Order: sequence, then C-alpha cells, then structure tokens
Amino acid sequence: MDIEKILAVAKRRGFFYPGAEIHKTIAGFWHYGPIGTTLKKKIENEWRNFFIKEEEFYEIEGTNIMPESVFIASGHIKGFTDPLVQCKNCKSLHRADKLIEEKAGIFVPERTSTKKIDEIIKKKKIKCPDCDGELTNTRFFNMMFKLGVGPTEQAETAYLRPETCQTIFVDFLNVYRAMRAKLPFGIAQIGRSFRNEISPRQTLLRQREFSQAEAEIFFNSDKIDEFPRFEEVKNYKLNLLTLDDKKLKKVTVADAVKKGLIKGKLIAYYLARIQQFINSLGIPLEAIRLREQTDEERPFYAKYAFDCDVKTSLGWIEVVANHYRTDYDLSSHMKASGKDLSVVENGKKIIPHVWEISQGIDRTLFCVMFHCFIEDKKRGWNWFKFPPKIIPFDCAVYPLVLKDNLPKKAKEVYEMLRKKFDVFYDESGSIGKRYARADEIGISFCVTTDYDSLKEEDCTIRDRDTTKQIRIKIQDLTKILKQLMDKEIEFEKAGKPI
Ligand SMILES: [Zn+2]
Repeated sequence: MDIEKILAVAKRRGFFYPGAEIHKTIAGFWHYGPIGTTLKKKIENEWRNFFIKEEEFYEIEGTNIMPESVFIASGHIKGFTDPLVQCKNCKSLHRADKLIEEKAGIFVPERTSTKKIDEIIKKKKIKCPDCDGELTNTRFFNMMFKLGVGPTEQAETAYLRPETCQTIFVDFLNVYRAMRAKLPFGIAQIGRSFRNEISPRQTLLRQREFSQAEAEIFFNSDKIDEFPRFEEVKNYKLNLLTLDDKKLKKVTVADAVKKGLIKGKLIAYYLARIQQFINSLGIPLEAIRLREQTDEERPFYAKYAFDCDVKTSLGWIEVVANHYRTDYDLSSHMKASGKDLSVVENGKKIIPHVWEISQGIDRTLFCVMFHCFIEDKKRGWNWFKFPPKIIPFDCAVYPLVLKDNLPKKAKEVYEMLRKKFDVFYDESGSIGKRYARADEIGISFCVTTDYDSLKEEDCTIRDRDTTKQIRIKIQDLTKILKQLMDKEIEFEKAGKPI
C-alpha cells in the first residue's frame, strides 16, 4: 500500500504533521493534531491497561533531563553512538550504516567497527547520495542531546534521556522500598525520549523526539523458569523467528520453552504478552513476528534479545525491543553511585536481573494506521478500521440539515452521549461529506437526527464498517451504542433496518 495516501489523510484530518511547520521545520520532529493525540493517548492507555494494570507493574514518571553521571554509569556517553560519514565535496552528513544498507543492501550490525565500515564503503564504491562526492572516514557520533543546566558560567552538564528506562534504574531503590516490592516485579514508564539522529526519516519511524512505553521486570536469575502466570499463555501460538533455523514458525509458548527456542518461562510469557498486545490493536497476526537478534545487532548490555516487528509496505518495522539486560544496569549504577542496589531474598543478597520491554509508541501508532487503513473505491474515500478501544471518537452526532430545530435536537443527543462516550459533533457540509470525514478518522457510529426525530423521538445510526443504517429511539441510544461497541449485539438486529 502507498504510505503517501495515509500521510495525506494524516495531515488533512489532524493526525500528525511536521513540527513547527509555519516556520522552517527541523527534520525528525513531528506534532500530533487533535485526532492523532487522542489515538496516541488511547494506545498508551491500552498499554497501561495491558501491562501496568494486568501485570501489576509500578508506574513512575521521571524527568526528561538527567545529570551526566547517570549516562556515564549507564554506558551511554561511551557507547550510544552511530557511525557518521561526511561528503568531502558538499559537506552533507550521513549515517554510514543506513547508507550502506540503502546503496549496497548490506546490513551493518550495531557494533561494527569504523575500520570495517570504511572497508565496505571502499569496496562497494559508496558515494555521497546528494552529489556523488567522495566520503570521509567513519567516526562515531554520540546521539544524546547535551544541555547546560543553570546560568552559563556555572552550567552543569546534563542530557535529555535517550531512553526512558534509565529513570527506572536510578529510581529502583526508591520504588523497591516504598512499595515493599517482592521479586519478580516490574517498573514501567510512558514518556518522551530524545536522540540526535543523523538522518531522521520515514515520518514517525525515526524521530529525534519520540514516545516510549517501557517496563523493566526485575527478577532473581535463578528463577527465570519459575513464573506462575506462564500457565495462562502456554497454549498461545507465537510467530517466532529464532537464530536456530531462521524460519518463521508458529509455535506454542510451552513448546518454544521446551525446545529451548526461548530461554526461560518468564521471557516466553512476556513475549507472548507483547504479541497479544500488538494484535489487540488491530494488527493481524500474519503481520507480527518475534525475531531473535543476532550477536552483532544486540546492544552491548543485552545477553539475549527479541524484536517484535510489524510488516508494512516499508518492510518489517521494529515496534518493541525485548532485552535480557541481566544485572548490567543495576550493577553499573551501583558501582558508579556507591549505593547498594541489591535486594534480599530468602536471606540472600542478590542483584536482580532485568527483562526489558521497550515499545515505541509512535511506531506502534504508525503501524496501527497502516493496518487499519482501508482503500475503498466503492465509497469513494479511504477510511480507518480502528478497533473500538483505541478509536479517536466512539461516535459522531449530526443534524441532517441546519434548520427547523434539527440542530437543537442533535445538540440534545450530543450532550446526552457526551457523558458516556467520546463524541464528535459536526454540522458543516452535506451529510455525505460528514460521513466521509467520520470514516476518515475511523469513527465507528454516526448518529443523525432528522425531521422524524422531532416527531418520533428517534434517530438513525450508521455503521462505519458496512455503511448500513438502523433506526432507534433516542432514549435507548446510550444503551445500544454501548452494546454495539462491546459487540454484544449485531448491528442490524439493534434497531429497525432502513
Ligand atoms: Zn555530497
């Protein structure tokens, strides 16, 4: 499918667009409009329900700016870099690994040396994509945004966090003590992260400021195979791509653990939960895979890692990174801060290990829009089939025409429904245009008041998915809409067909 079509709707209907567009925009910054913001908040809330509520994680909210010492301890100052090359002719800057991937089709893993990268560039005769000029040797560029906090003379060096999880690690002790937590337990956070990307691109997919939902699950490494909730998912089938045979296969969670495809019940459980979550957002199972990362692409802190990818016409998009971070983070912060971050379990002091779920919210939203987008020649417009729980608005209310008290009646209905649902009121343009507008932002049901409504106290409901209409009494509207959203009744049986 053509991504441009989705981007056109995204801009026209207020999902998202380049940041500060009336000025000169800087690449890699995108703003959400009213519809996109609602959609994003609902995806975040679903994540909250699915993980924080159901998994009983502790949710925290930390600052975006943290002192340099945090990132020295975490290894970001040294290791959070991308390979950079510059054109000797036009001076433009390029991310070397991505350039090689685009020009030569060679995947460059995260930890490849500059020497090796220079060799590939030379061998494949890769030139500047802008002017065909000669490229410099590769050097590493740190992707964190550096800040000076306080008046210039005494400014303290700090950084915008490049991932939300460091807040969780530095707060570990506070949460552990305050909540009297017992292993295994999770700490989660939804927030903004910042990366000074060399070449941001593909709209929401690689931005310089973006949203993450992250959970760090702390556990005793001796008990990675003791996880009671494993039973709940053991028969669920995963779309698994492991390093063993490099073939995508459907395998139950129980079999994946038994055959050693996934090392540990705790890990298998959370991988299943991730696949379930992505699927619940309207992304079909065929378009989801859990892919084990190779040794070379795994970040330095991870012993074992799976990406949850979603298939789109731009290829497989990594939406959630799942990492076994061992005790790397707590040990590093402990060493650098001098604070004891060990916990006592059965009289024994241990440093908990960490399984991390790191989800890109903007990427998820992009993939949801991609998979919910319906190209509809018959209707004459394209629309979004969002699942009810993340829909920007549950229903729209319209007067058929703008006269004879019809708007007054529609407003009455709107005020009534607004107490229970997210409702969109619209009276501009023909009714056909208003239906098209509602479809384009994915609204499930449109309620229209007409002349009969004044006499009969009833109204028309239109179903987004079928465009069929039924007639029901206004007094039953709240109840019936609720049943329709929960899929408790069939649309055509909910009222009098028209
Ligand atoms: Zn150039």
